[in-house]
Parts: sequence; C-alpha cells; structure tokens
Amino acid sequence: MPDFVGSVDQGTTSTRFMVFDHGGNVIAAHQLEHEQILPQAGWVEHNPVEIWERTSSVIQTALGKAGLVSSDLAALGITNQRETTVVWNKRTGRPYYNAIVWQDTRTDRIASALEAQGHGDTIRHKAGLPPATYFSGGKIKWILDNVDGVREAAERGEALFGNTDSWLLWRLTGGSHGGVHVTDVTNASRTMLMNLETLDWDDELLSLFGIPRQMLPEIVPSSSPEPYGMTLADGPLGGEVPLTGALGDQQAATVGQVCFAPGEAKNTYGTGNFMLINTGTDIVRSKSGLLTTVAYKLGDADAVYALEGSIAVTGSAVQWLRDQLGIISGAAQSEVLARQVEDNGGVYFVPAFSGLFAPHWRSDARGAIVGLSRFNTNAHVARATLEAICYQSRDVVEAMEADSGVHLEVLKVDGGITANNLCMQIQADVLGVDVVKPVVAETTALGAAYAAGLAVGFWKDTDELRKNWLEDKRWQPQWSDEQRQTGHAQWSKAVSRTLDWVDVS
Ligand code: ADP
Repeated sequence: MPDFVGSVDQGTTSTRFMVFDHGGNVIAAHQLEHEQILPQAGWVEHNPVEIWERTSSVIQTALGKAGLVSSDLAALGITNQRETTVVWNKRTGRPYYNAIVWQDTRTDRIASALEAQGHGDTIRHKAGLPPATYFSGGKIKWILDNVDGVREAAERGEALFGNTDSWLLWRLTGGSHGGVHVTDVTNASRTMLMNLETLDWDDELLSLFGIPRQMLPEIVPSSSPEPYGMTLADGPLGGEVPLTGALGDQQAATVGQVCFAPGEAKNTYGTGNFMLINTGTDIVRSKSGLLTTVAYKLGDADAVYALEGSIAVTGSAVQWLRDQLGIISGAAQSEVLARQVEDNGGVYFVPAFSGLFAPHWRSDARGAIVGLSRFNTNAHVARATLEAICYQSRDVVEAMEADSGVHLEVLKVDGGITANNLCMQIQADVLGVDVVKPVVAETTALGAAYAAGLAVGFWKDTDELRKNWLEDKRWQPQWSDEQRQTGHAQWSKAVSRTLDWVDVS
C-alpha cells in the first residue's frame, strides 16, 4: 500500500491539491486562485476550463515540490465548491457557458415563481432545500433557457451537467475519451433535484425545472471501494490512481472534523460560513430555516444526513473591505484594523450582498451598515465585519439547537478566517461557548482524502480517523451575559433593516 492519499479541493476562490499521510498530516500542497467573473450586479461566474487548468497545475506542482509520483498515492479524493453549475458538450469537452457560481442570484425569479406556484413545500420535503438561487436546479434551467442550442443538446444526451466535482472527475478520467459522468450523493443533494429518501434524481422535481434526466450524472457514494474511475497515465498525475472519494466541500469538512456521531457539529469560515450538524441516518426536516442535506455515504452503508446552516457572505465581506472599500490591504489586516477600537462603536454591518441565506432565506434583502455616527471610523466598520461573521453564525446555532434539540457545548471550527484570533474570540463571546480549532485546519481537503482512503483500506474505519483529530487552539467566552444579549438584540434589529429591499416578485 502506498504511503499517501491525494486530495483535490476545488474551492470558490482557489483550487488546491494536498497530499496527506496516515496521521492526516499535510505532506505536500499547492494552491492557485482563479478569476471571479462578475458580468453584472448579482452575477458570479467561473471559467470551467481555467478551473481544470488550475487543477492540473496544482497537482503537478505539489507532487513536484515534494518529489512524489502517482504511485505514492493509494487513492485520490475530490472536494468542491457545491452548487456551482457547469454544462458542457460530451463530444468536444467544451463548456456551453461559464460555470454559474453558487453565490449568483440571477435565478431569483425562477426561485420565487416556484414558491408562488405552490411548489415550495414539495421541494422542501423531497430535496430538503427551500427554492433559492443558491442551488443548482435553477442555474441549470437558466442555461437551458438562455444559451442557444443547449436544451436540444441536453435532450439528445450531448450536453452534460455537473458541479465542479463531476466536471473534474470527467476530465481526470479521460474527458471526451471515455471520462466518467458521476457525482457524489452530497453534491447531488444540493441541486433541488435529488430525493433525500431514494437518493436518486426525482422525476417530479426534474419536471418542475424542465431538466432532462439524461444530462445528469450518475449518483455515487462519497466513499467508494469500487473506484469511480482511474486517473490517466498522460493526465496531470502522470499515472493511474483510483478515484474513490468525493464530497461537497462542507460535507468534506464535516468528515475532516470527524463529526461522525449524531449531534457533532462543525463551522467552516471561508467565503461564506457553513455549519453542519450530523443527524445520523435520520432525515430531520428543519422548522427553523436550516437545510437538510446528505453528510456522507460510505460505500454500501446507509447515508448519514445533516442539518446545515449556510451563510452566504462572511470571508467575502472581508474581501469587500479590501477590494471595494480599500480600507485594508489584505484579509489579515482586518484584525489589525479592528483591534484599533475596543468595540463596534454602535456600528452593525449586515453583509446581505446576495440576500440572506440561513436561517432567513430572504432573497429580497440587501446589505446595510447601520448605527453610524460622526464618531465612527474604518476600524469600527472592520470590527462590525468580524462581528457580522460571528452573529450570523450565532443565528444558525440557535436554529440548529431548536431543530435538533442538541445544546452545543463547544464549536469546532476551520477555514481561512480561523487565522483571525480576534474574530474567533468574538465568536466565543457572541455564542457563550468555547470555540476550538484542530491542528490540521485544512479539514476540507482532509475529509476528501479520508473518504478516498477509507474506500481502499488506507484507513481502517472512522475510529482510526478520530485519533488524528488534535486540538490546536481554544477561545473562551469573556463577555458578560448582558453584553451578549444586548449585542445580539442590536444585531437582530440591524438584520430587520435589510429585509424587503429589492423586488424579486
Ligand atoms: P474558500 O475555501 O471559501 O475559498 P478559505 O477557507 O480559503 O475560503 O478562506 C478564505 C476567506 O477567508 C477569504 O474570504 C478571506 O477574506 C478570509 N480570510 C482569510 N484570512 C483571514 C483573516 N486573517 N481574517 C479575516 N478573514 C480572513
């Protein structure tokens, strides 16, 4: 058995390749950003060809830097930005349109029409998701309706849909020369097209969106002893490696944080924030604005489900301070600037740039900075941005506690923003519980490696993975209860000011 497992992490802002050893330690890594294409307000696209090129390049560079070859890898896993939608031609391999990214809101009218026509409850019940711009179904429909020739090609079976997991699996296994067209069950659970009970595409849901079944990938387990396919000798790995693990990024982080028991939860702080709580083999339907989703399916074992609170804008609000306002030079600067003041000076920032996701699901909301007075400075705005990340997470924790009946004792965290000590301290203060971070913070890539490695026996079982989880940092609450309550009440008032801002009917 080779000594390592490889993992491709195709994220929203960048793609990375990481190699892990048996202890879950990072042996090699390389990462490259790709372009964020913003053709008009609310639209966000990526170039799928650029994503494939970046993927090839990070694999080659990471292996090269560490002096590794394909035969050092026992298996390869893949994890990806979920919901982002690619439609391509099976013969030429060319995408018909740019990838429509999960943050893109162009399908707001498709989503609100489904609700207005009374289909919302069907979608919520069958797919576990509210009709929203976030998920793939509306994005596929938009491409079918707006790009010349795609609907006909889809009906002929020539146009294929995939999230970026499918797109990369297809490319890695040969593309137009016999590439496999599959998606893992966690990615499929984010389309509004898969039935959570049957774990198959659902005819009623497909007909609501007018999507031909033949363009959809085959749904496969997240960890599969029967490989989805093999990488090619003349591909970026330069050899045949079995592809045996695939998970959407947040589900991968749940696995990477070893949340294998019901009630175990993690929160990932990246472009957006995503909190998942394992609910075991029960499909728990949310009454509090959370999503019901598949957490993972390991081989033939029953699928394990999760409740998820997705927050659209957290790290991207920090990017906004950098790119649009120009008040910081890099993400880490947000901490330096926010530390210049002792508190938010009364300022609350609700970054509802693409509406509000969990637990509100309001596509008519838009961002607001409220409570400003002449006294306030950039530093208050920076602090309010970090607080917004934490308050949005608190709203999700409350929804999770209401739905699951589990009281969170400690929050496991990961993702880029966890490098920000002030933000993590505020998170502990706002929640009133400890916040802990593992030594290997790259839980997303690690989770996909775990899924791939479990399939080939590189790791024996999930108990073995638990031993790899080691605590790195812990933040403990310092605020008084009164401070916590007052702060949250003001935050809630700020949220109410952002609602009903744009007309989406
Ligand atoms: P993704 O996987 O979604 O691309 P990452 O986990 O790589 O995200 O995190 C990147 C995000 O984290 C960016 O939006 C960036 O603005 C934010 N970020 C990174 N470092 C910091 C920091 N020190 N303070 C605040 N935000 C940060």
